Amino acid sequence: MPSTLALSMPSPGAPLAPATIERRALRDDDVRIQIAFTGLCHTDLLLAPNAWGIASFPLVPGHEITGIVTEVGANVTKFSVGDRVGVGIMVNCCGVCANCQSGNENYCTKGYVWSFGWRDYDGTITFGGLSQSIVVREPFVFRIPGDLGLDVAASVLCAGVTMYAPLKHWHAGPGTSVAIVGMGGLGHVGVKIAAAMGAEVTMLSRSPGKKDDALRFGAVSYADTTDPRHVRRARQPVRPDHQHGVREPGH
Ligand SMILES: [Zn+2]
Ligand SMILES: [Zn+2]
Repeated sequence: MPSTLALSMPSPGAPLAPATIERRALRDDDVRIQIAFTGLCHTDLLLAPNAWGIASFPLVPGHEITGIVTEVGANVTKFSVGDRVGVGIMVNCCGVCANCQSGNENYCTKGYVWSFGWRDYDGTITFGGLSQSIVVREPFVFRIPGDLGLDVAASVLCAGVTMYAPLKHWHAGPGTSVAIVGMGGLGHVGVKIAAAMGAEVTMLSRSPGKKDDALRFGAVSYADTTDPRHVRRARQPVRPDHQHGVREPGH
């Protein structure tokens, strides 16, 4: 089996150390990717000490993966060598249950497979993006547009899609109001995506120090959740006042 270099944790909480890991030989529907970047999100930090008791070790974190296709299986049709691609947290599902068939693979009744720290259906442990290459089934590989850097695209593959999916589901866009709770972690990504969709975004936060960033990222209003006046005001849609700049809730 082809091997590749990785940063691996042999046991829960152990420091990351260089290691050689195996990647499977290419199956007909597999894509091999030379990894360029990987993001690290809080799920990596939770699986590293096995905080949920669900991780398989050795653990190679990283599930916001971008890179270049170096090889494709015989039945792969959507990708070819040289393509810029990404992989998120899912790398397998049964594909035939009602949930998979309706596009809700994350509710696969057989159980989805995460891209790191997980047992795949064949019994092997999945290893994530802190490595030089990865082999992934074609349905779980995504094309990265040419004008999007592989570095910035990485964080879209977990943090980004986590915010994008509900905004899309609830039809965020022109004429809608969206409130995002909290600016860190996912929130700042949510502000950017909701604003880009054309929604009117209010940032809800306990920290007034986040206000300037929220407005810079596309929010038109900020509500301090420790101030009852701000919270009352935030119940109403807020529109930007072009004459006076951003209107303050409660004013
Ligand atoms: Zn399924
Ligand atoms: Zn994540």
